[in-house]
Amino acid sequence: MINVAVAGAAGRMGRTVCAAVEDADDMELAGRADPVLGVGLEAVLDGCDVVVDFTQPGVALDNARTALAAGRHVVIGTTGFDVDALRDAAAGASANAFVAPNFAIGAVLMMRFAAEASKHMQGAEIIEYHHTAKLDAPSGTAARTAALMEGDVPIHSVRLPGIVADQDVILGDVAQTLTLRHVTTDRTSFMPGVLMAVRAVADLPDRLTVGLERLLWP
Ligand code: NAP
Repeated sequence: MINVAVAGAAGRMGRTVCAAVEDADDMELAGRADPVLGVGLEAVLDGCDVVVDFTQPGVALDNARTALAAGRHVVIGTTGFDVDALRDAAAGASANAFVAPNFAIGAVLMMRFAAEASKHMQGAEIIEYHHTAKLDAPSGTAARTAALMEGDVPIHSVRLPGIVADQDVILGDVAQTLTLRHVTTDRTSFMPGVLMAVRAVADLPDRLTVGLERLLWP
């Protein structure tokens, strides 16, 4: 059994992660940390193996430092924080950190195909679409997609009600365009990837691993 504590447990993603962990045969939900619940992260570290963090850009790094200092592995879905600072924190730790800007398998495939297509087409732009409560822009997924692609890829951010998290990558060349489109209809789309990371994090060869693709294509 893997004992999992969730930071941000009262949030939209955190609630979905708690339900997925409770449904998983090989996991126990060891604790829910969230200011909304009046429970700090320190209070749920005892008896947990892995902390899953879906909080806010301003607190994810401190949460990771706290978990790592206590020897707990950490799986982070929060976007918009300084991953290089996490690399420094993880370097001297006795536990592993895993970060993914997008836990949806379709999004990871989109990033891979976009990277490949950008080698062969003249230009590309990204449009990312999210719900209005998202704090960071551009999204971590869009930034990561652009970083993986050839050339300078502008990113446009749309924030509207009725959207969870979608992205278009549009590539253009002589008299043609190619659009790669990833659509999510529900936050459960991220859960297979989150559970995959929870199962893998303890055995990863590096203290910090970034990107679900590292688990899909090791
Ligand atoms: P949300 O609904 O605002 O949830 C965040 C929760 O974390 C809130 O309940 C918040 O409480 C709580 N929180 C704040 N500080 C905390 C702390 N120190 N310790 C524990 N919990 C704390 O946001 P969301 O929509 O779930 O998104 C959360 C993050 O996940 C965002 O960064 C988003 O971009 C990211 N995300 C990633 C993926 C992925 O696949 N990687 C997918 C979707 C979303 P308060 O309301 O009191 O501040």
